[in-house]
Amino acid sequence: MKSRPKQFTSSTPFIRVGPSGVHGLGAFATRDLPAQAFLGLYEGRRYTKQEIATKVWDDQLTYLFTLSNHETIDGAKGGNGTRHLNHACEPNCEAVEEYDEAGELVLKFQTLVAVDAGDELFIDYSLTADDGSPPSKYPCHCGSPNCRGTMLAPVDSTAEKDVSPAPASPFGDLPW
Ligand SMILES: [Zn+2]
Repeated sequence: MKSRPKQFTSSTPFIRVGPSGVHGLGAFATRDLPAQAFLGLYEGRRYTKQEIATKVWDDQLTYLFTLSNHETIDGAKGGNGTRHLNHACEPNCEAVEEYDEAGELVLKFQTLVAVDAGDELFIDYSLTADDGSPPSKYPCHCGSPNCRGTMLAPVDSTAEKDVSPAPASPFGDLPW
């Protein structure tokens, strides 16, 4: 097998990509990791809200991540191993938004709990179906006892409406 040219993306040394126990390809821990271990940034081509509105996505949906500033990252273009984390309703990892030193909003993947080498890594996608698609269009087969049966965000979550807006300024350089 020929080796492909390296993509211009950061490496994700704690992630190995392989056949998933749930769906398609998955991401697996290469070593034992504690909770809150940094796995990598979700990378890929960025689109503004305006660009997204006019684009047809076909079946690339699983690699799209929309940030709270309405930018969308397409992990299918220039993404790294983080794009292979599958959804689970009781995940062992999470995606956290953060501002980097340049003031850009980035999406950081980290473990939620301690994982063992070889464990498959999952996050809760909590998708929102802007087109009003029914939850059954995004079925979940994670096998967790508390499986919602869908990758969409829980509909009974009233907390979501009360989420405060993302901080307007990057961390650091605060006036106090
Ligand atoms: Zn599930």
